[in-house]
Amino acid sequence: MIDVVVIGAGIGGLALAQGLRRRGVHVTVYERDAHRDDRVDRYRLAINPAGSRSLRACLPDRQWQTFLDTAGRPGGGFGFLRPDLREMVVVEDAIMYPETPDPAERSYPVDRHTLRGILLDGIGADLHYGKTFERYEVGADGRPTAHFTDGTAATGDVLVGADGINSLLRAQYLPAATRRAAGATGVGLKLPLDAGTRAWLPARLGQGMNLVLPAAPLFLFTSVFERQEPAGDDYLLCAFVARDDQFPVRPETLDGTRLKAHLAGLAAGWHPALRRLIDECPPHDVSAFPFHAADRPAAWAPSRVTVLGDAVHGMPPAGGNGANTALRDAALLTQRLDRAARGELPLLDAIGGYEAEMRRYGFEAVDLAMKTLRQGLAGNPVAGRAWFRLCAMATPLRRMTFGGSWAKVSARRTWEPVAVSASPRP
Ligand SMILES: Cc1cc2nc3c(=O)[nH]c(=O)nc-3n(C[C@H](O)[C@H](O)[C@H](O)COP(=O)(O)OP(=O)(O)OC[C@H]3O[C@@H](n4cnc5c(N)ncnc54)[C@H](O)[C@@H]3O)c2cc1C
Repeated sequence: MIDVVVIGAGIGGLALAQGLRRRGVHVTVYERDAHRDDRVDRYRLAINPAGSRSLRACLPDRQWQTFLDTAGRPGGGFGFLRPDLREMVVVEDAIMYPETPDPAERSYPVDRHTLRGILLDGIGADLHYGKTFERYEVGADGRPTAHFTDGTAATGDVLVGADGINSLLRAQYLPAATRRAAGATGVGLKLPLDAGTRAWLPARLGQGMNLVLPAAPLFLFTSVFERQEPAGDDYLLCAFVARDDQFPVRPETLDGTRLKAHLAGLAAGWHPALRRLIDECPPHDVSAFPFHAADRPAAWAPSRVTVLGDAVHGMPPAGGNGANTALRDAALLTQRLDRAARGELPLLDAIGGYEAEMRRYGFEAVDLAMKTLRQGLAGNPVAGRAWFRLCAMATPLRRMTFGGSWAKVSARRTWEPVAVSASPRP
């Protein structure tokens, strides 16, 4: 039997806790937030096939079914638009991800708050809120102990840092694993989607995902979240992303009203519907996130302390891979720790195998996010526009240009289960 201590009840830490519990491995999670609703996290996440496959592997059947039931309506494709809203090309969903009858191999728009509720379901007393991790030490018996700012401590056989992009656990354990500013900042906005907004919102913006690409180092990403059940509470998630020099210093300190005023200046001359969209997003749902990317660390020797998710491979949200990669870590670490708990693998081999594979796909995802960000900020050059026009005319060109990037990063890896997944209900 092994006892696992997880720091951080975010997407990755909770998925790991679900996976371990499902396999009978004892796990306790410590989270700095005082309670579940401490953070405003009502925004949409794109879960790709790697994320779905990992959730299927970690979640009990009932929670997996809740995930399928509460995911947003899929479809709508990915549009590349000019700021006058002329469509350059719309990429069909079937090009982004291959079609499959297996629900665990599909992509889903999900509401982050809803997903977190599913991941919390059943963890109960094994999750301790109001516990801010400060440091750890390793005892004479080799077991790590996490110390919290309130003076309490928790000891386990394995300590996992799932404490996000500013991870204190990573800073202590892997001081050479640095991260750098990605040179861009995103401002998140949310427009409620109801009959009123749908009446003026151009049809393309009310579907799927879109990227508005002006001739400047900035872009606007939009994505519809429409609930299947219960109906209602639909919204359009927007992220206005720009090179840092397009923003005032420390934009994350500005309130929603001032951020919106700044975005309105950047979008002057854009289609009136895009300016109205910025204008009508409620200021309390507007905030700025400076982007960071983890530097690829040299391999380290495994120990009873390890890291997952943004704590080790933080990346800009361009391309939507951070949560998906954290979920993949959770599924892989679950699999390896389960084998160690059953005596099939020595504990340090289990952790070392996880880390070697996680470094491979995790830093591929960081590289892809940085590439996607750079492409978005490239300012929509004339050559790019001509290529988009060609792609719009020819399906094989669309498949060649856009098919690879989405599907490749989420393609099944050898250790990931094949079609485990038929949904419990028909
Ligand atoms: C606007 C936006 C949109 C995004 N969209 C997508 C998307 O579409 N698809 C996608 O895959 N990714 C997306 N991401 C990225 C994704 O949200 C992150 O990559 C993901 O949440 C990482 O999960 P995690 O578990 O590693 O960290 P987190 O979810 O950040 O969780 C870390 C947890 O640790 C806790 N914690 C931190 N420090 C301590 C401490 N000292 N002690 C105790 N607890 C601590 C935090 O409170 C938090 O609960 C988006 C991000 C943003 C900002």
